[in-house]
Amino acid sequence: MGWEDNVRKVIPYVPGEQPKDKVIKLNTNENPYPPSPGVRDIIDNFNISDMRLYPPPDADILTGAVAERYNLEKEQIFVGVGSDDVISMAFLTFFNSDKPIFFPDITYSFYDVWADVYRIPYETKPLNPDFTINPDDYRGENGGIIFPNPNAPTGVLESVDMIEDIVKSNPGSVVMIDEAYIDFGGKSCLELIDKYENLLVIQTFSKSRSMAGMRIGFAMGSKKLIKYMNDVKFSINSYTMNILTQICGAQAIRDEEYFRNTVDKIISTRERSKIRLRELGFEFTDSMSNFIFAKPTEKPAAFVFEELKKRKIFVRYWNKPIIKDYLRITVGTDEEMDILFSELGAIING
Ligand code: PMP
Repeated sequence: MGWEDNVRKVIPYVPGEQPKDKVIKLNTNENPYPPSPGVRDIIDNFNISDMRLYPPPDADILTGAVAERYNLEKEQIFVGVGSDDVISMAFLTFFNSDKPIFFPDITYSFYDVWADVYRIPYETKPLNPDFTINPDDYRGENGGIIFPNPNAPTGVLESVDMIEDIVKSNPGSVVMIDEAYIDFGGKSCLELIDKYENLLVIQTFSKSRSMAGMRIGFAMGSKKLIKYMNDVKFSINSYTMNILTQICGAQAIRDEEYFRNTVDKIISTRERSKIRLRELGFEFTDSMSNFIFAKPTEKPAAFVFEELKKRKIFVRYWNKPIIKDYLRITVGTDEEMDILFSELGAIING
């Protein structure tokens, strides 16, 4: 027997490309605008000698600011190094049963990777043909439930009532709602956490707060859920979030007006983009996120993807069943989108 027989083997998640060249980057749902000016000031005035010390292990500078913004108590907030870290920690903490966890067949492609790495059994549930979730699929015995709202990469938003219906039917497991894109016009199900001890709501600073590079995500839920997550986190690595990130995050969340303006700009560019895409013959669901999941009808999606890349415009494409005819296009600035539409016109009519 060789040592490799006992290695924990897993097929890793493949993130979108981060090209070194200057390109129009519409492939990983980043925000085209910079973080708030308040964050700039924090970095300019940061006292380097503060790096000598370990950061607060409970990241209370940041959990306090998030709690204040969402009218919760600090003990109801868990922060992590991006929501990927938060969700991974939540899988490890709560998905600990022999029964399969449920998530949609078309969804964030990290869920099955975490399930595999932690040896969690899972069952995927097909989306309806219009890409909505069928709540009846989420009623059988399960070891937990997770889906994004709006879903990714479809952009389809589900109602708070529908989520409540699922949470109510599953008192025996933890239900996680991944709200990475909720700020772009959706209604959060946060209001349900006081009513349901088993509901965990996860959000991120990577999209609506323009801080993907800083890596901040957070979960909100009952004090009990958060305590269980902290127990696991403190059994692995206490100091995951560095001091500068904690104070920048706290500032970003206080800069509410900047946040609202940025989000409003992206929503208005998205709605304008829907009109242009329709004119170019694309079909798409009514996205409520900062991306549009669109199917070109004149040329194959894979061809359009490659042609855009030649023109230094990056979007996301998956050669996978059901979604292989679609492109996921992140909403950039108006200027970036205008270049995209002009190139798309050339590709489609060329
Ligand atoms: N959830 C969903 C649905 C996402 O699309 C992403 C972004 N890739 C994440 C979570 C993770 O984002 P982050 O780790 O940057 O917070």
